[in-house]
Amino acid sequence: MQSRFHLLMFAAILVSACGEEAPEMVPYDPARDYFSFANTGQFVTEHLALDLTVDFDKQELRGSATHRMRRIDSAATEVVLDTRDLDVTNVRVLLADGSAAAADFRFGETDAVEGSPLIVGLPEDFNSAAELKLELNYTTSPDSTALQWLPADLTAGGEHPLMFSQSQAIHARSWVPLQDTPAVRITYEATIRTPPQLLAVMSANNDPLTARSGEYRFEMPQPIPSYLLAIAVGNIFFAPLGEETGVYAEPELLEASVFEFADTQEMLEQAEGLFGPYQWGRYDLLVLPPSFPYGGMENPRLSFLTPSLLAGDRSLVAVVAHELAHSWSGNLVTNATWRDQWLNEGMTSYLESRLMEVIYDTDRANEERVLSYQELLLNLEVVPAEMQALAPRLDSGDPDDFQGTIHYSKGQLFLQYLEDAFGRDEFDAFISSYFDAFAFQTITTERFLDYLDEYLLQIESSKVGRADVEQWLYEPGLPETVPVPTSATLDAAQAMAAAWADKKVDVAEIPIDSWSPHATVHFINSLPANLSLDRVAELDAVFAFSNTQNAEIGRAWFIQVAELRYEAAYEPLIEYLNRYGRGRLITPVYAALAQNGSDLDRARDVFERARAAYHPITEASIARALGLDND
Ligand SMILES: [Zn+2]
Repeated sequence: MQSRFHLLMFAAILVSACGEEAPEMVPYDPARDYFSFANTGQFVTEHLALDLTVDFDKQELRGSATHRMRRIDSAATEVVLDTRDLDVTNVRVLLADGSAAAADFRFGETDAVEGSPLIVGLPEDFNSAAELKLELNYTTSPDSTALQWLPADLTAGGEHPLMFSQSQAIHARSWVPLQDTPAVRITYEATIRTPPQLLAVMSANNDPLTARSGEYRFEMPQPIPSYLLAIAVGNIFFAPLGEETGVYAEPELLEASVFEFADTQEMLEQAEGLFGPYQWGRYDLLVLPPSFPYGGMENPRLSFLTPSLLAGDRSLVAVVAHELAHSWSGNLVTNATWRDQWLNEGMTSYLESRLMEVIYDTDRANEERVLSYQELLLNLEVVPAEMQALAPRLDSGDPDDFQGTIHYSKGQLFLQYLEDAFGRDEFDAFISSYFDAFAFQTITTERFLDYLDEYLLQIESSKVGRADVEQWLYEPGLPETVPVPTSATLDAAQAMAAAWADKKVDVAEIPIDSWSPHATVHFINSLPANLSLDRVAELDAVFAFSNTQNAEIGRAWFIQVAELRYEAAYEPLIEYLNRYGRGRLITPVYAALAQNGSDLDRARDVFERARAAYHPITEASIARALGLDND
């Protein structure tokens, strides 16, 4: 896609330079999903039925996917679905009267990012059907980019294998042939067959009391985009957290999970108070093994979480607030394309901070706001200007990796700016009405802008114009009106770092015991870049940062260790890189090693030995950071 487009551009420039008429080019269409082959203008899936056997020996899912599709274009004779590495063996078309016919199918040209279009020709008799069912028999590949198959020794229990999916952004197509675009919403049902001692869970109606039978039925009555299709199978057990909330985990992690996430029921109740009714039934958590690539994934009814949140002090549960908030922003009102991802992530980051305020307090919420603002500033230094808009042009590249965290943190600041301009009461009313107006729909940035304009910008007292908003949405960097967050507790930690570095205070006077883990992270981040190694050793001797059980403190510390080349802590650093598989935690540590001028080979060596336990998404991001081809 990318190279073809650039060739066209080049040709257009050449031709116009010669004074001849430029060939007509297809203009960029911000509402189009450039990462799906599906012909959604002709057919749309409304319901999906899965019947899959989970085979741990072969590391594959095998079975069928049946689409109930509505015809939009009466002249259409082909259905195009997204796939990646799927072995499709048979396709049939079924009609409501029970008749069925085999359909011809073929794969189109494979794209490295998008996979392969599956083109199904409809038998002639079916060419006029307004609704049809398409049944596809298929098997996934062990290389499926969505599925991670963990052998028993990479689980907490060590006795049973475990498998889980990560469909966002465009990985659902590597375990189900489907229209893999957030623009299409589907309901689904599934029958999942597993080894009898294991439990399957999905982003659907999990029954906490279900018997272990090796055959599990699921229904998902609310329409969801494909990236929210999710499955996990393993030696998983359930414990309740509240009336409508609970946690699934391997038994070895269950007690720690119940302690860590004890506030989830209250979060759910507070969220309903702030954002309107929770529309999904139960809200449960699933704690996965360390190789889960993200902090959390907002699979509806069942957020998937990294075990790196189990800090033992509930200090990292903002991730739960974040995934829960996605039940409104993202899952209920969904970005139409990945270019509009700030609608999911920026809105959710804003709501997350509001939840943290009511569940904990303003100090803690402000600490988290400052830390995410500082990460944004670092991102703005490395992300190309044309990708710094909240809604950039996005028609090439990989939607997993186009903006760093800009759509999260800049989106959050944009909404904070609106809250400040209109007042919290007015802005909260807007948020509720927005969720109400677009519930179970997918929308573009432009639709959001029109709604905002109509609802808020045009009120008489408004000091915000459409051009102000457009600057946030379409321009790089940060507008001058950015509401820079502040935190007195973090300021104190930063001042302490400077005072200690200047030898104005002794290490024994640093009151880390009285600080939040966030303040400790900020203290470490604030250490000067030219700190001598004996002073790094002094800190580690007193505070034992190298042995921390808090994954975020570890992240901040080992980035410093790598940047300063404090080799005395390389052993625990390497242990850290092997303990976690969450990209946010380990990719920057690898990057710091690769960039310190001396340790690129060492980083590559550690990676080669650790990569088997990483998820393909994390593996790919580290390979990029180390300048390796990831094949
Ligand atoms: Zn999110």
